[in-house]
Amino acid sequence: MAKAGRCAICGRPGTVRVPHANAWFCDEHFPTWLERRIRRVAERYGMFEGSRRVAVAVSGGKDSVTLLHALKAIGDEVGFEVVSLHLDLGIGEFSRASAEVARRNAEMLGVESVVVDLKSKYGFTVPEAVRSTRRPACSTCGLVKRYALGEAAEDVGADTLATGHNLDDMAQFIAMGYQSGDVEELARLRPVVPAEHYAVKSVKPLFLVYERETAEYARVKGLPTVSLKCPLKDATSGWIVREKMKEVEEAMPGFMMRFVQEFAEKIQPALAERYLREGEVGRCRICGRPTSKGREICSFCAVRMRATGMATA
Ligand code: AMP
Ligand code: ZN
Ligand code: ZN
Repeated sequence: MAKAGRCAICGRPGTVRVPHANAWFCDEHFPTWLERRIRRVAERYGMFEGSRRVAVAVSGGKDSVTLLHALKAIGDEVGFEVVSLHLDLGIGEFSRASAEVARRNAEMLGVESVVVDLKSKYGFTVPEAVRSTRRPACSTCGLVKRYALGEAAEDVGADTLATGHNLDDMAQFIAMGYQSGDVEELARLRPVVPAEHYAVKSVKPLFLVYERETAEYARVKGLPTVSLKCPLKDATSGWIVREKMKEVEEAMPGFMMRFVQEFAEKIQPALAERYLREGEVGRCRICGRPTSKGREICSFCAVRMRATGMATA
């Protein structure tokens, strides 16, 4: 690796290299620089326009822990409050450790911390849901989390819900969406989702932040994060694509950022115009929320019925 350069802000020896910006930063200034970048991205995409109370979805991983700390700092500057929202998914020791990490980070910052227990609120855990269907574990878990987080954000009186999806996640979703030609899924993939299915708008402030950068932020600031891996996580082809994209990034610094940013600014809007049709939305017979493709029951209620034994798979 090249000899360490000097911090772009203070000129002291750098500790963190940022190839896509062709710069180095010291431990003190890397977080300052990253927070500034997150704020600029948030402003460019209007993420917190009109926001007063932002629920931050904190899983306990390095991305969402970084998000909580960065949004607390940005909220203090621009005038919104932050509440930490954690879902206890009931995945044994993994969930116990995650809830504890979420609570400790909120406490460090003095922000309100809410933990929603899936089993008490909806009657099932993620392992129970996964066992009741043939869908891949991460896909079932993802749909349960989206629904429960949207509802929990409403319950805590937030106007905005922020999640920690990073640039590597987005690049992976886009590439996999291209591969399968799922134009509707791609049309829905955007950094800001207006309030429609839920009363809150949903934003991804880290969508142009590399995973490596959230790891450095958490390391440099010494933040508690969960080190356990989710035991249900399935090996998917998405991971191969993600790793290969990182190799391209090494050879062409900034590639993944352009890939995601150009998608968000040019391709997704064109797809949305063509494929996102509001008219086709129906209402779930059980919970009353919108369903896709005119279905009678939404996918969350369908999973819940199977997981609690009210229906068979
Ligand atoms: P994942 O679906 O695990 O890749 O997580 C994507 C984002 O969803 C995270 O960055 C968090 O913002 C949010 N998230 C995931 N799991 C939880 C959880 N148990 N509680 C709260 N938020 C979560
Ligand atoms: Zn510095
Ligand atoms: Zn429903």
